[in-house]
Amino acid sequence: MDIFNELSLEKIFIQKIEDEQLNKCRLKLDILRLDKIHPVVSGNKWYKLKYYINEFAEGNYNSITTFGGPFSNHIIATAYACFVQKIKCTGYIRGEEPKVYSDTLSDAKALNMQLVFLSRNEYGKRKRHPQNDVSTFFIPEGGFGETGARGASEILNIIPGIPAYDYIISAVGTGTMMAGIANASFRHQKIIGISVFKNNYNLVNEVFSLTGNDSEKRINIFHDYHFGGYAKYNQLLLEFMNKAWVQYFVPLDFVYTAKTFYAIFDLLQKKYFIPGSKILFIHSGGLQGNRSLEKGTLLF
Ligand SMILES: *Cc1c(COP(=O)(O)O)cnc(C)c1O
Repeated sequence: MDIFNELSLEKIFIQKIEDEQLNKCRLKLDILRLDKIHPVVSGNKWYKLKYYINEFAEGNYNSITTFGGPFSNHIIATAYACFVQKIKCTGYIRGEEPKVYSDTLSDAKALNMQLVFLSRNEYGKRKRHPQNDVSTFFIPEGGFGETGARGASEILNIIPGIPAYDYIISAVGTGTMMAGIANASFRHQKIIGISVFKNNYNLVNEVFSLTGNDSEKRINIFHDYHFGGYAKYNQLLLEFMNKAWVQYFVPLDFVYTAKTFYAIFDLLQKKYFIPGSKILFIHSGGLQGNRSLEKGTLLF
């Protein structure tokens, strides 16, 4: 995986999934492959950052600062965005400096992001109250906020034919992407989110704080597919990921998209979807995170 590869939005495409179970339930499942943008900087983070970068450019700042964990897709995407735009940037990283950097941290460093390691306590404090430094532009952890949602809403403009879908399903972390998608969705569409955190029941309020239309009635968040919590996994999930690769040629990441894709098939079995419907799964990327798994775990 080369972090210095160019970003290519034209590589995004719709993948149609052929499957017996789907046929039996008279359902169609398509995947919007945002993961194709870039091997490391993949998926929704790029969209969420767009208007933050604009705000930075319009203001009087000399750098960007943001927050994330040592495997964060948001950290790597911010580092990349700043690298190509030649913006000085700092990443506040949750936890002590590790002896051996994760691939994510090594890549962020290679992209000239200045890494500052903070204890969990200090990290939490700074995250809630970014210090009074007016020279740097702060992007919230995970790109959460209206600015991030505005960028994410453009995900539905990439490909024509969006009105044909009855359900739009995505993984949910902070809820920013889901809010953006809900804002750009059509009245007949159900917006389904699979929360990757355990018991994060406040999520729905956070999503609603970013949605501006009638979409709230059409939003449904599931909390039962976290596989033990954020970034936790088990053998079942890993086997499912390998099966998705062998059977459909879909590479998934273990933190977000694998849990969501799994949820789709589980909901299918539970007859959640109305027969005759068309489902769109947003593959939000995140594949770089799989580098933290032991080599040989995955077939892709
Ligand atoms: C960050 C991320 C999400 C969650 O996005 P939010 O806007 O924080 O809800 C989903 N999928 C992938 C691959 C991500 O990296």
